[in-house]
Amino acid sequence: MERSHLQHESKKARPVTGDLFAKCREFTTAHEVMAAGYYPYFRPISSALGDEVVVHGMEMIMIGSNNYLGLVNDPRVKEAAIAATRKYGSGCTGSRFLNGTLDLHEELEERLAKFMKRDAALVFSTGFQTNLGTISCLVSKDDVILMDRSDHASIVDGCRLAYGKIIKYAHNDMKDLERALNIAVTNGVRGGILIITDGVFSMEGDIVDLPRLCKIAEEFGARVMVDDAHSIGVLGKGGRGTAEHFEMIDRVGVTMGTFSKSFASLGGFIVGDSSTVHYVKHFARELIFSASIPPGAAAAVLAALDIMEAEPERREHLWKNTHKMHRGFRDLGFNIGETATPIVPVMIGDDMSCFKLWRDLSDNGIFANAIIPPAVAPGMSLIRTSYTATHTDSQLDRVLETFARLGKKYGII
Ligand code: PMP
Repeated sequence: MERSHLQHESKKARPVTGDLFAKCREFTTAHEVMAAGYYPYFRPISSALGDEVVVHGMEMIMIGSNNYLGLVNDPRVKEAAIAATRKYGSGCTGSRFLNGTLDLHEELEERLAKFMKRDAALVFSTGFQTNLGTISCLVSKDDVILMDRSDHASIVDGCRLAYGKIIKYAHNDMKDLERALNIAVTNGVRGGILIITDGVFSMEGDIVDLPRLCKIAEEFGARVMVDDAHSIGVLGKGGRGTAEHFEMIDRVGVTMGTFSKSFASLGGFIVGDSSTVHYVKHFARELIFSASIPPGAAAAVLAALDIMEAEPERREHLWKNTHKMHRGFRDLGFNIGETATPIVPVMIGDDMSCFKLWRDLSDNGIFANAIIPPAVAPGMSLIRTSYTATHTDSQLDRVLETFARLGKKYGII
């Protein structure tokens, strides 16, 4: 209904305010990019989610997923999801707190705690909610949060929800962290301090300097929380993430993970000591007031965990593919930043050049992601590529050949 019509109908004259929805009509950028044929978002995939997918009838090599271990279409994972759906039903219709806890959720928490070599685990409905709920309930009014400037949006929003003071430090810069901590302490911290970092940074693919971060945290008596969304199944001898990679599992306070990447499902979790997990379980609003993950999603994670533990060769293959792509891009002369993981960003700079390369990649059957601000800093737009254990050499060679051709066309290499 038109606003003028609404106003017309109201009997009493009221002061006219701005139209809250005006900004929606005025937001034209996405339509302009669509009209120009460069819109890279919300692409509907109509096939199985493998290393090749179909979009608008075209077969494409998928280098835009987070399916690191290639388990999304593993028959064992799918069968587990189907069997649990048959047994329990399609959804839980309530939160963990009330009617939404299944024996399956408890089994999953026990398995996750054991796998991550920690006392306890707690499963949330998404990774995003895990960060929102955990950070906002652990950090109170008198506490201080120190967060990396490149931390994931869910950490940023979790900090916004928390009542504590937020201080950002330069990306993975431990000197800056120390400087920020010194200022915080000099100004007086009445409560405690939480340092929150991504383990693997989701757009850049670099790994946090956890040994130095933990050392600094211990000097200041601060607690550490690591977001291992992109690290579990990928980093460490047993795929346990960043802390295992640096052999310092007992020095991290809380680790969060998500089921939407290596675990091939949907949901998130934290692991830590029993009292911390117990506290979050009773105070995290995102857990208490939101429905739990469906049985099929929980069973898929359990099956993925079985495979993760039984088939370390998957991780070995993932790293073989990762090293091939690091070498391949660097030999061609692309700038792939500081990545040390299967996330390989191809640095471009401005948004439009990024969209143009994305479009050409897409026309050449490569499904990659165009990443622009606010996901990265202004002027740092990039094509995010990421690799899986199941990519074949011939698929990866085709990716490199296409990038080589287009990189020359656009003067990037
Ligand atoms: N943390 C990081 C570092 C992520 O990259 C993501 C998702 N991309 C999340 C948290 C949120 O996880 P989910 O998508 O499972 O909600």
